[in-house]
Amino acid sequence: MSAFFANAVVQLVLYATFFYMILLWIAAAYWAFRDMRDRTENPLLPFLATGLIILFLPFLFPLGIVVYRVVRPPERLGDVYERNLAEEALLAEVEAIKTCRMCDRRVDAEWIICPWCRQRLKRVCPNCERLVGLDWSLCAWCGKDFERPAVERVPQAAANPAPVSAPAVSSAGSVVPRPAGGIVPGESVVGR
Ligand SMILES: [Zn+2]
Ligand SMILES: [Zn+2]
Repeated sequence: MSAFFANAVVQLVLYATFFYMILLWIAAAYWAFRDMRDRTENPLLPFLATGLIILFLPFLFPLGIVVYRVVRPPERLGDVYERNLAEEALLAEVEAIKTCRMCDRRVDAEWIICPWCRQRLKRVCPNCERLVGLDWSLCAWCGKDFERPAVERVPQAAANPAPVSAPAVSSAGSVVPRPAGGIVPGESVVGR
């Protein structure tokens, strides 16, 4: 038996196998380090994984591989980032599809009115005749201020109905007797 191990060829094969195992061991530790660094943002985990591989691999190679496969994060960070980007792009595409806010049907971005439910979608700027949003306070294309003429009209609109409405309220309150319930059905307060 000792003569067999003393053989030069056998010893060479044994040494080669030994060095190959060492090399494999180091390579496995390096692979684990790189693999873990790709999969987690935690700076300590790659070193932990490398340490575990170095400690346990010579004794429990299959068990170490199985444990590492179970413990390591399933996705690479790059894959996670890419997937998030794709999801965001998809979401943005869905949000870009315009729908009528009344009937929820798809409408064209250039329509000013919904052809199904007659909901107003856009209006035309009186100055440059381009399409503007209903809630815009001024035209984004030409800069026309939509609120300025409205402010000028308010004093006129408030001054006119004031003398008309004042006697209407007083006559309704004093002259006409009302039931306990208040407003008579079929009557309108404004009309009196
Ligand atoms: Zn509609
Ligand atoms: Zn305009």
